[in-house]
Amino acid sequence: MFKALLMDLDDTLIKSSKMYDRALEFASYYLAEKNNLKLTEFFPIVKRKDTLIRKNFPTVHTRHSRILVYRHALEEAGVNYSLSDLPTAEDIYWEFFDENVSLYDGVFDALKTIRTEGVKIAVVSDGDLRGRIRKIEAVGLLPYIDQVFASEETIFEKPFSAIFTLALSRLKVTAGESIMVGNNYKNDIQGAQLVGIKGAIFNPSEDGHVEGQDPEVVADYEFAHYDELPEIILRS
Ligand SMILES: [Mg+2]
Repeated sequence: MFKALLMDLDDTLIKSSKMYDRALEFASYYLAEKNNLKLTEFFPIVKRKDTLIRKNFPTVHTRHSRILVYRHALEEAGVNYSLSDLPTAEDIYWEFFDENVSLYDGVFDALKTIRTEGVKIAVVSDGDLRGRIRKIEAVGLLPYIDQVFASEETIFEKPFSAIFTLALSRLKVTAGESIMVGNNYKNDIQGAQLVGIKGAIFNPSEDGHVEGQDPEVVADYEFAHYDELPEIILRS
């Protein structure tokens, strides 16, 4: 039995990927209206800038910055925008995301069962701490977990080991007593395995978003539904 369960957040606990585009468009609509731009022309610029920011800031949490996406998009659109629109657009983005994102089936029951057995549960996620906690709170998960660790606290994102070792030391467990669950082979599974933590990949049949596949990375466990997770954590 493991003593600590480390959980990735996006596309592992919550269905994030399907919400990012919708949130991006929702906040783009606000900026388009305010600046007399056509959404059909402005949104494609926003999408391009979103891809650009993600690529230009690998491994640091700046790549998740939406305020930079909107700033670059407005500048390319050539409008004389108000600076105060930038944080507002970012707030609109995250409010929309938090209000509409949903959990995968069975998360509550699985975490409850696992935690009742004395296993510590922590979310280990790339991004800023404020955003991680807000997302977890929005889906009602805060009472089911013990801790949240964000890459902001360690500068570099997964698979760099700092966020994993931070989680181990704060939870007072060893790598051998811990397991990481995620949807990304490279960041979650390999990142954990490099410090001696076992890795379980979450690959659901519906709304799945497995990424980072690499022939050299083999997950120690794989599951498709949360009702399989307690067995892995408690009987291994
Ligand atoms: Mg993920």
